Amino acid sequence: MPFALMCQSDNTSLRLYGSLNAQNYVSGRFNPSQSPLFSSVADSGIETGGKTQFLRIETIAALVKMNAAFKKDNPGLSILVISSTRNFYDQRSIWEAKWNGSRPVDGININKLNLSPYEKGLKILKYSSMPGTSRHHWGTDFDINSLENSYFSKGKGLVLYKWMTENASDFGFYQPYTAGRNAGYEEEKWHWSYLPLSKYFYQDWMKFYKSNNRFIIENESYSGAEELYSLAPVYVSSINPECI
Ligand SMILES: [Zn+2]
Repeated sequence: MPFALMCQSDNTSLRLYGSLNAQNYVSGRFNPSQSPLFSSVADSGIETGGKTQFLRIETIAALVKMNAAFKKDNPGLSILVISSTRNFYDQRSIWEAKWNGSRPVDGININKLNLSPYEKGLKILKYSSMPGTSRHHWGTDFDINSLENSYFSKGKGLVLYKWMTENASDFGFYQPYTAGRNAGYEEEKWHWSYLPLSKYFYQDWMKFYKSNNRFIIENESYSGAEELYSLAPVYVSSINPECI
């Protein structure tokens, strides 16, 4: 490989992953609070509802600019970040709680439905990712204001969503889970992604999966993983085509 190209690729990798292993990074096996690539969202002045949350420094810088522009256009309103980076272990807690019935799925204990492990997984996958497959692992994706699509169809929520669909891309932000896709997660009007970084993490996740389709489960697993892990690339790739 020519030296110039080698340097370019090394620099890109350094910029994306720092000292972290790329496979571990895209599957969420690291602690964002310990990484110099990440920073606290609340420290930037963005509202988080009091929750300690972390995002990539680049994501936060763009989010601060976007929030300022939104507030200028809509005095009295602001973007509230309610969930940010969740690593493999955070995602596994959510997954296992839904799997064992301690956290409701569509308002009920999923184990009351007597489903097969595969069917049970499909229900959870309407909105929750399998550990190792979430865009929330990447430090580029976050949820704003409400985890209900209905919130964004009237009042302040509609003002925010309309503004986001018209302006967020100017700051690098896109909605991966739009309406009208024919596979993957349901529509999520609250979930936004900082594409200048997430497009690389997406490409690398798909590349690692192609070279070893067990990379997301081979060292650490979770309930239903064997029945469901082969669906992972469908959920990862069934996104708004603007995000690919
Ligand atoms: Zn989300």
